[in-house]
Amino acid sequence: MARLIDGKAIAKTVRDEVARGVAAFRERHGRAPGLHVVLAGDDPASAVYVRNKEKSAAEVGMVGQVHRLPASVTEGELLALVERLNADAAVDGILVQLPLPAGVRAQLVLDAVDPQKDVDGFHPQNVGALWSGLSGLVPCTPRGCIRLLDEAGVALEGARAVVVGRSNIVGKPVAALLLARSATVTLAHSKTRELPELCRQADILIAAVGRAKMIKGDWIKPGAAVIDVGMNRDENAKLCGDVDFASAQAVAAAITPVPGGVGPMTIAMLLENTLTAALLRQRAS
Ligand code: NAP
Repeated sequence: MARLIDGKAIAKTVRDEVARGVAAFRERHGRAPGLHVVLAGDDPASAVYVRNKEKSAAEVGMVGQVHRLPASVTEGELLALVERLNADAAVDGILVQLPLPAGVRAQLVLDAVDPQKDVDGFHPQNVGALWSGLSGLVPCTPRGCIRLLDEAGVALEGARAVVVGRSNIVGKPVAALLLARSATVTLAHSKTRELPELCRQADILIAAVGRAKMIKGDWIKPGAAVIDVGMNRDENAKLCGDVDFASAQAVAAAITPVPGGVGPMTIAMLLENTLTAALLRQRAS
């Protein structure tokens, strides 16, 4: 039976570390790191995510604001807000909550964020830095996946890793991070042939697809570590991952549950990125 990788407990450890870092930052620089979130439109899921981010940031002692804008906001108004936040010395992190309202080009808005304040790590400069092995801000969920593997004692160097899903926010950056740690990485997607056989070769399997329970126990190599990024609803509207947990648990050596695995790590890593951005900006000033 697989060992459970407890994302909730590990995220708490990270948040405690960040809270100590925030206290030290405040002591040294006379101000707290500032995280600003741009929330445009009325997507109910986004509203919940942003409330959690706001609450968690306050709990570790950060300051900041959620800039709530109506669905009718224009691209120009959003760009003007981002520019204002870029220019504000008290703002260390800027997060633009996706999706943005129809008619707004999301990439244009993300590209406008100062790369030094880009705590989501989505700016092309940070994406390029990640793939080039240069320092920069790294997307939160992928960093969370790596931290979970590290905390679970999974060796990355030389391991065969299969990442299922090639999105810019999860699949590609997690593949880049695994490669940077010298895993041998295969990035699979909807056109990949013989996916079950491919997954069965993985010492580390990362699922970031968005399809409830798609990955079955017999797709998993005995003894593998499985990180399930998926957040889906099953036939009973219960939250579940991309991995069929019941059958996978019998084969894997270590596995993340859904909920309570990757999910809590995303916010913890956002807080860590904000502290990092604040420290780097302070050092550069
Ligand atoms: P996305 O942008 O929709 O990307 C999904 C990826 O899965 C695509 O690359 C797609 O391939 C691939 N895919 C779809 N069907 C497939 C199939 N049958 N076989 C193999 N690959 C397939 O999704 P995302 O934003 O990366 O999110 C993935 C999941 O993670 C979702 O459930 C999301 O809710 C969850 N998520 C969780 C967190 C968290 O904090 N826990 C954060 C972000 C996302 P193509 O590129 O070929 O279309």
